Amino acid sequence: MANYKDLADLIFPHINNTIEDLEKRYPERNLKEGAEVTRFAPSPTGFLHTGSLFTCLVSSRFAKQSGGVFYIRLEDTDTKREIEGSGASLVEQLSVFDIIPDEGYISDEKEIGSYGPYKQSDRKELYEIVIKHLIEIGRAYPCFCSAEELAELRKEQEAKKEIPGYYGKYAKYRDFPIDDAIAKIKNGDPYIIRFKSMGDHNNKISFHDEIKGDLELTQNDQDIVILKGDGLPTYHFAHLVDDHFMRTTVVTRGEEWLSSLPIHLELFDTLGFKRPRYAHLPVIMKVEDGIRRKLSKRKDPEAAVSYFLEQGYPKYGFIEYLLTIANSNYEAWRDENLDKDFYDFKLSFDKMGVDGALFDIAKVANISKERMAYKKAEDLALEVKTWAKTYDKSFYDRIINNEKQFIDILNIDRQKEKPRKDYAKYSDIYPVIAFFYDDVYKAIDKTNLEWNPAMDKETIKEVLSGYSKSIDLSLDEENWFNSLKEYGKAYGFAADKKEWKANKEAFKGHSGDIAEMLRIALTGRKNSPNLYFIIHILGVSKVEERIQEIIKNI
Ligand code: GLU
Repeated sequence: MANYKDLADLIFPHINNTIEDLEKRYPERNLKEGAEVTRFAPSPTGFLHTGSLFTCLVSSRFAKQSGGVFYIRLEDTDTKREIEGSGASLVEQLSVFDIIPDEGYISDEKEIGSYGPYKQSDRKELYEIVIKHLIEIGRAYPCFCSAEELAELRKEQEAKKEIPGYYGKYAKYRDFPIDDAIAKIKNGDPYIIRFKSMGDHNNKISFHDEIKGDLELTQNDQDIVILKGDGLPTYHFAHLVDDHFMRTTVVTRGEEWLSSLPIHLELFDTLGFKRPRYAHLPVIMKVEDGIRRKLSKRKDPEAAVSYFLEQGYPKYGFIEYLLTIANSNYEAWRDENLDKDFYDFKLSFDKMGVDGALFDIAKVANISKERMAYKKAEDLALEVKTWAKTYDKSFYDRIINNEKQFIDILNIDRQKEKPRKDYAKYSDIYPVIAFFYDDVYKAIDKTNLEWNPAMDKETIKEVLSGYSKSIDLSLDEENWFNSLKEYGKAYGFAADKKEWKANKEAFKGHSGDIAEMLRIALTGRKNSPNLYFIIHILGVSKVEERIQEIIKNI
């Protein structure tokens, strides 16, 4: 009669190494007390999801702030869902947000660190060693059920209103005689490997999650698949082997994995591996028609991080927003520490929301606006230029054509105690400042401008035509405005609104009307950035040129 060892040797004849060998190959890390080893473990199934960036941000912060190690592991065992090249592009997108792993998968050609390989499809030997051990101790077995048989089983369980799945008395090959299993394998019958659970779904287990606190969970009794027909392991099994041998101290992952945690705990215990701590992070949700739901890849553009990059939300605005979701005390800390780097904030698990976090794009915009307003014009210009190079080529060309002017434009009303907060994203900038560019200005329909209807056209022409001669670029903003008042007086305009209101008959209007005429003449619009700076940036001759062109069309 054959034994478990014979079965294990038949299935994995090429595996001679043991778990002990692996323990030696991947020794405990020599880190200081309290240092966390965390990981981000994406599957290469497409774009970087906003929720994944959130998880990754939290994971990397916990490692960094504790002086530990943050690594990336590519979970590519689901070959059907894999999208080629997406692993490396995920890592690249993370680097845009300055999330750089200390070790791990970088691309299919490159990895860093001595706990690898960091791509699951390259770790087959490890999984096989562990599975071979499980078979040897009678805690894993081959299952020869076909897809049809499993579908039948599901139907039967539904009809009997039983818990669905492959467990206990429904686990057909659980107690299959070893000799018969060996015969089937020798015969070439297809099979997969299942874990043999010793749990009972009538039992509860206690568990402490770093975020969710103390939990009571139903014990696992499912004989889950650990090795698929294609020779690759399933997530449940692979992540566990990896987290153990990569010496993860705290597993930070989405709360959607909480329901399968009992499986993972049973596997850890069966293998005698020390359990890592777990922190199940809130899922990012959205409210639609009063109903909360997960951000959806299909329906919500904001589910993809690339959306924010394309739109030109500054990365610091987006990351800070995610930090506000991560910890409820982040915003209060930020208000007190505006001069600090946001990474000086120490994240903690106990300040993390327990329920799904609601995604609020208006808040991303607000935070971005705040932060962009306090950037130096030179720094912001560089950010915008970098963004435009990829996402708005014609804007990029305009910027590099005259970078000094672009910086001057961004500097309008910036060097103040309370700078203007006009822009939430880089793509907001061009529409506001486009009039500075002569070709854009030329294309404005000058016959259809929003002149004040109370002002007759002759007055407008008169006021505008003499203006450029009165410009004195050496005046500061206040004195310039005083000079505008003086200029207006000569044409019968009151110095201010109050004076005009008190005696409307005596005046054609007030200095504000003069400013509006100039604004419309120079920008084509009633609303624009600060006129004083516009005049400075355009310069006297361009102001004159624009006024002449306007006058022709009034
Ligand atoms: N590969 C899993 C996913 O993409 C990772 C879950 C985990 O972090 O353990 O959802």
